[in-house]
Amino acid sequence: MQTTNSHTLFNQAKQYIPGGVNSPVRAFRAVGGNPLFIKSAKGAYLYDEDGNSYIELINSWGPMVLGHAHELIENAVKEAVSSSLSFGAPTRKEVEMAELIVSMVPSVEKVRMVNSGTEACMSAIRLARGYTGREKIIKFEGCYHGHGDSFLIAAGSGAITMGVPDSPGVTKGVANDTLTAPYNDLEAVQTLIEANPKNIAAIIIEPVAGNMGLVLPKNGFLEVLRDLCTQHGILLIFDEVMTGFRLAKGGVQERFDIMPDLTTLGKIIGGGMPVGAYGGKKEIMDFVSPAGPVYQAGTLSGNPIAMSAGLAMLRHLNTQPEVYSQLESIGGKLVAGFKENLKKLGLNYTINHIGSMFSIFFTDQEVYDFETAKSSDTVLFGKYFQAMLKRGVYLAPSQYESLFLSTALTDEHIEKIVHANYESLEEILV
Ligand code: PLP
Repeated sequence: MQTTNSHTLFNQAKQYIPGGVNSPVRAFRAVGGNPLFIKSAKGAYLYDEDGNSYIELINSWGPMVLGHAHELIENAVKEAVSSSLSFGAPTRKEVEMAELIVSMVPSVEKVRMVNSGTEACMSAIRLARGYTGREKIIKFEGCYHGHGDSFLIAAGSGAITMGVPDSPGVTKGVANDTLTAPYNDLEAVQTLIEANPKNIAAIIIEPVAGNMGLVLPKNGFLEVLRDLCTQHGILLIFDEVMTGFRLAKGGVQERFDIMPDLTTLGKIIGGGMPVGAYGGKKEIMDFVSPAGPVYQAGTLSGNPIAMSAGLAMLRHLNTQPEVYSQLESIGGKLVAGFKENLKKLGLNYTINHIGSMFSIFFTDQEVYDFETAKSSDTVLFGKYFQAMLKRGVYLAPSQYESLFLSTALTDEHIEKIVHANYESLEEILV
């Protein structure tokens, strides 16, 4: 595989951009080698600067649920561009977008648009603090809620511990207000609540976690979290930036029928444009400025081009329920193929899967939290990633990510991916 142009661009990029990339995981540090510079994409394929093509299993980390350059989204953007790129004033499209989100996401009664998932999560916890008059939040180890200071906190060695900043630049003061518990560990949550009576504003969680590889909530986990929050006056925030409009029209909350107080959204609602949103019960959302005292603003929030792309995407998802059966079927076929390959090769690796998201962990342990995810052999994952890439399949360049499938994948693509998976596993094991 010839990648000279990508290499040249990467060297050039490193002179002007920290690490050569605008988001760290893109640098391929977790899998070795140099990142590929992407020139274009269409349907299920990515094309790099050297003219190589790859079947795509990341889809811009989730938003391209219909595949790349889908004509519905493209046309909506083209049409919007001719009316100017930004006004910084209210528009009809924002109203239509809010109405549509409210009709699709069961627990959301009012919604505020922002520009990224990070912004959505930062704003949601500020709102939770303002609404409850409390200061601390609980997050789960291995869950990612963007790069806001409050979220860059590791759990430390014990389950019940005060936060320790994960990155220089996050102050101890901020870290002290973030408490962490292992995913799926209700006892740890209960202990944190008891140790901080009436001072926990919110529990924020990826209700299906995609940022330590894919990790599913155990039966009853989210239900009990919901009850604990209600019992203790804590707001439950579902971070559905990845799962919203993907695992069901109304996200995980619809799929599992558990209603959070607030929901954060991103990715798919922009159809590939930079967008986020947070929403929830009217009573809580009316605490947001200018209706209420909690300040939050954005010059480009509700940007007309982003709204047009997102509206085209959401309207399609809202009226074409077969998209979801298609995504389930594609995910089911791929995972069945991978499992068959593991069986044929006598391997016992763990695959976590739901709908159009899945991860293969190079461990024979069950993976249900960050500790168990870390039992995966990441060196082997790096080799697997490179072996798949060589065979024209583009995976997320880290063990601790989920794959995101699109409806552009045909049976023929699935067959090629499953075949590449077999050959790659065989190659890395010798
Ligand atoms: N929340 C979750 C669950 C995410 O996966 C991400 C990003 O991947 C974010 C929040 C942050 O979103 P963004 O990268 O748009 O800031």
